[in-house]
Amino acid sequence: MNDCEFCDEEFSSERKLYLHWGEKHTDELNSHQEEKVKKAKREQENEKEAKSSKRRNLMFKGLTAVSLLIFVGLVLPQVLSMFKSSPFQLEQQPMLGSENATVTVVEFGDYRCPYCQRFDQQVYPQIKQEYIDSGEVKFYFINYPILGEGSQSAARAGEYVYRNDPENFWAFHHALYDNQGSESRRWVTPELLAKVAERTTDINASELKEGLDNEKIKEAVQQDKKIAKSNGLQGTPTVYVNGEQVETSYQSIKSAIEKNLNNGN
Ligand code: CA
Repeated sequence: MNDCEFCDEEFSSERKLYLHWGEKHTDELNSHQEEKVKKAKREQENEKEAKSSKRRNLMFKGLTAVSLLIFVGLVLPQVLSMFKSSPFQLEQQPMLGSENATVTVVEFGDYRCPYCQRFDQQVYPQIKQEYIDSGEVKFYFINYPILGEGSQSAARAGEYVYRNDPENFWAFHHALYDNQGSESRRWVTPELLAKVAERTTDINASELKEGLDNEKIKEAVQQDKKIAKSNGLQGTPTVYVNGEQVETSYQSIKSAIEKNLNNGN
């Protein structure tokens, strides 16, 4: 024990004694004792500083851990799903469904392709009823015209309608498939396209025919083909669910959609 020589109070350490001197007996101290008081105060300050910097450090580490958890838990899945759901440029592509849908289905199609017609008439309506209308899936269409000039014209007609009467794009799109006709009549003429446009959109026949020669429209179709080619598409229809190519049957599309919904995507 360290007794105070001025008032007989007891202290458990020398430092506590010197700090006590500094508080209660400043007037009674000789210079040697004053030095001891100063040293004790300095040591106390240093200790305080070390403790608070340790606390700051811990807090910073805690915050870093929390932000990391937030990033891994909330932000990362969003970022990943963005990459997963859009390996293609989708901004300039027609979309049906809720912007907030977490699952993205992309059809690459050719309006002259009979398998695409079958997809549009038999598989697509089930996807729409089950998942697009419920807000879980957004559906995109990208042109991949591979069956000659008629395919090109039909794709251009679609691009023209999408850019000039987007409200009616899907009506026009389905009508193009419905009007495909038999194998021998599958050659798509500007007249046929114009007729379908007049029936399903607010665009008249001459406007649509002119639109088929529009450079920007041609460029849009080229852009679509580029996307298809850079993804190594073999034919049409080709369907992607959140960036993964799947079989075009309803069952396989459905199970891919369900898998993504269950993964919280
Ligand atoms: Ca397009």
